[in-house]
Amino acid sequence: MTIKEYIKARKEEIKAEVAAMAKKPNLVIVQLNEDEASKAYVKGKLKDAAELGINAKLLKFPVEMSEKALLKEIAKLNKDKKVDGFIVQMPLPKQINEETIKLAVAPEKDVDGFHPMSALNPCTPQGIMNYLKHEGVEFLGKNAVVIGRSNIVGKPMAKMLLKESCNVTVLHSKTSKEDMTRYLKYADIVVVAVGRKHLITKEFEFKPSAILVDVGINRDEEGLHGDIEPGMPVALQTPVPGGVGLLTRLALMENLLKIGR
Ligand code: NAD
Repeated sequence: MTIKEYIKARKEEIKAEVAAMAKKPNLVIVQLNEDEASKAYVKGKLKDAAELGINAKLLKFPVEMSEKALLKEIAKLNKDKKVDGFIVQMPLPKQINEETIKLAVAPEKDVDGFHPMSALNPCTPQGIMNYLKHEGVEFLGKNAVVIGRSNIVGKPMAKMLLKESCNVTVLHSKTSKEDMTRYLKYADIVVVAVGRKHLITKEFEFKPSAILVDVGINRDEEGLHGDIEPGMPVALQTPVPGGVGLLTRLALMENLLKIGR
């Protein structure tokens, strides 16, 4: 199933689940930044919620808001019994420390799965795993390579693949091209989360059975591009746009439902 078909089918299931709930889940999205990317992400999340019958509210604050003032608002949301889950849309303006904010969100309301005590996983790796499992991808004893070691994608992705008994290798900015070439050649599952347009090209050799998951979102005047060149000769390659971004959005709603249940 393509990602678009999968999303459509899962949305129907979620819609039915929400329709059967006596109390609809309540989501709050906190937004400070007003750049095009943030606006597009927030719009997408609100659209998904509306489509699924989930109550979502946007709480917009000025971009110059202080960290202290934001922490006060987060404390209010943590206490508000009507709010099942909330997210603070990242990235945040420079005057605010993102790690401080991630830790301020009550773990039981942390739909983004960013808090170390949260029972939920971050949405991007969770969305990827859900899709790969749905596609019947085998994990046990398979060679998985994750490129990128961020706290919200690379590291949790590696942890989740390890939990499925993959042999996990994490590559990053200090990995030589020679080593990258060597690891990729034997990889069964590759997740690239770097943020460099077409870092992975056909120059690298892959198994024809390899599965390539492209997390990267790189914007230029021509539009959106992934970290992997399109059209790789492999068994599965997720597209950009219309790939991991959609899986991430879906996982946010699935995380909320896990809290709301
Ligand atoms: P980040 O900047 O926090 O981390 C990037 C990682 O890439 C780092 O760990 C770094 O070591 C590694 N890296 C940098 N240059 C490298 C190189 N030349 N070779 C190998 N590794 C290198 O980024 P992030 O938050 O993990 O996001 C990564 C990309 O994924 C970005 O393009 C971001 O926009 C995108 N993203 C997409 C979604 C989605 O829903 N589709 C979600 C989150 C992030």
